[in-house]
Amino acid sequence: MTKPEDIIRADVLSMTTYAVADATGFVKLDAMENPFPLPAPLAAQLGEVLAAVALNRYPEPRPAALIEKLKAVMGVPAGADVLLGNGSDELISMIAVACAKPGAKLLAPVPGFVMYQMSAKFAHLEFVGVPHRADLTLDTDAMVAAIAEHKPAIVYLAYPNNPTGTLYPDADIERVIEQAKGSLVVIDEAYQPFAQKSWIGRVLQYENVVVMRTVSKLGLAGIRLGYLVGAPAWLTEFDKVRPPYNVNVLTQAAAEFMLEHVDVLEGQAAELRAERAKLAAALAALSGASVFPSAANFLLVRVPDSDAAFNALLNAKVLVKNVGKMHPLLTNCLRLTVGAPNENAQMLAALEQALK
Ligand code: PMP
Repeated sequence: MTKPEDIIRADVLSMTTYAVADATGFVKLDAMENPFPLPAPLAAQLGEVLAAVALNRYPEPRPAALIEKLKAVMGVPAGADVLLGNGSDELISMIAVACAKPGAKLLAPVPGFVMYQMSAKFAHLEFVGVPHRADLTLDTDAMVAAIAEHKPAIVYLAYPNNPTGTLYPDADIERVIEQAKGSLVVIDEAYQPFAQKSWIGRVLQYENVVVMRTVSKLGLAGIRLGYLVGAPAWLTEFDKVRPPYNVNVLTQAAAEFMLEHVDVLEGQAAELRAERAKLAAALAALSGASVFPSAANFLLVRVPDSDAAFNALLNAKVLVKNVGKMHPLLTNCLRLTVGAPNENAQMLAALEQALK
């Protein structure tokens, strides 16, 4: 009889499933979600819109109205196009699959978003991680040297970066783009609502750049919609490895509706930016904690013992992300999503207690 281990790739057998903690009953500050619900009248209107969606038909692969609205909201320059994914996670996978020539490499600063490395594993690309400096800023010299040495097919730059929150200076990114003439540079703007800076307007100025976005952090993590912006020459190729009908009808309808009300989500993002500033100041004032600058909706904080602090927060019913073992540069670090004011207060009180 055939067993899975006879059939499944050895590297897959040795992988572990992407773990998601059960947050039932917890203040959930582990996954960079927007904590605010939709205002009730808007949720009711959305319900009516969704009720009218025909579920018996496959979704449109290129929903023109949704794409036009996205282009308008994001300020996509004329001549650039948009490719939709089931979350940007799916786009990251598609890019890896499309570029995975034998021996090809994917390069990114580390610590960084885990999916870059995972997508490389799935597609048999070699992953090259370039460590940040100790203060978690981009080591541009090391990036330039690594690109020259490895000649990667793909370079990822998260703008700002997860889990550090760092917003790399534009001059550093330009230097990487210039050095990576033989590579595709993907600028991942998942946290754009909190950084309020973007490369989308410049995406056609470079032949080797595409920009990735998502609606997840803005408040729509549940609908799973990511989008890639770039020259049609790139997007046409990625479109060939897109699973058919990857963005479902309910997601398309909800996204189109919410783009008409994007001011609500942008208002919530503004509130979270103000909360981020308050939380950063409060964390900096805690003895034993040091907080890194963040342009995202989370803060990275170093404590004397991240395992102990994480467990103390769990006991206080607050779930955060303990990244202390993720990379040596993150030793004793916790990543704290900026939540609603009452959630942040609860988290701060528990952390203060834990650090006593
Ligand atoms: N890029 C970065 C830098 C992220 O942190 C995340 C979410 N953790 C993603 C992409 C994935 O976003 P999505 O929900 O659209 O798959």
